[in-house]
Amino acid sequence: MIRADALVLIVVDGLRPDALRRAATLHLDRLVAGGAHTYAARSVMPSVTLPCHTSMFRGVRPERHGITTNVWIPPARPVPSLLDVLHRAKIPTIAIYNWEQLRDLGDPGSLDQSYFVNNCYEPGGDQELAELAAGVLGGMEAGFAFVYLGYVDTVGHSQGWMSPAYIDAVSQADQAIGTILAELPPQVVRIVTSDHGGHAQTHGTEMPEDMTIPWLIQGPGIRQGYQLQGQVEIIDNPPTIASLLGAEPATEWTGKVIAEAVDG
Ligand SMILES: [Zn+2]
Repeated sequence: MIRADALVLIVVDGLRPDALRRAATLHLDRLVAGGAHTYAARSVMPSVTLPCHTSMFRGVRPERHGITTNVWIPPARPVPSLLDVLHRAKIPTIAIYNWEQLRDLGDPGSLDQSYFVNNCYEPGGDQELAELAAGVLGGMEAGFAFVYLGYVDTVGHSQGWMSPAYIDAVSQADQAIGTILAELPPQVVRIVTSDHGGHAQTHGTEMPEDMTIPWLIQGPGIRQGYQLQGQVEIIDNPPTIASLLGAEPATEWTGKVIAEAVDG
């Protein structure tokens, strides 16, 4: 496995991969062209924000981590979060997000810096958060940062997934991502993904429209212009990110390292 000093994980809530073909997404198109990607990664059931994010950070499915709604409950049998593993490995951790329920993705004390702005329901909220993120992460040399943009999901619920307003929100998310990426040094590995898709004005089911998410990665040592052939799952994020940053994945995690994304 290649070794990265810095990695940024950007999550666009409720982003369907087929929306990336319909919306104007200059920055994500560049990421796809310069990195490895799949438009057929799989989320978990229920395809709901907090259960999916918990799987994205704790590397196990909801039946194991126990979070099955958007209300966090203390786990009976805790599984280490990616944030806990990185923190124990003395790798700096940062979270920048605009949906407050994500405060429990790691255990208390696992974040070195945390920025929450309560604006995921507002047009322009993601851009405001992106400008904050660009300031915090500008010149980033080491560590892990998680950036969460929530407005695409908001528009999916109010106007419908794949509606013109939703497609426009995806373009706005791309602009916000461009604001962040512009400030990152080239050696920072970047991943852009989602927690779930959506259909009509909802999500949460096992339908492909709800379960299929994009997973894009780009950076030094990552394959360029490459479409991943293997099945990527949301639970693969923690072992993959920990390995890239040189930390030992937790033994409890059931996801795999997405080794196919790496050159050679
Ligand atoms: Zn969501």
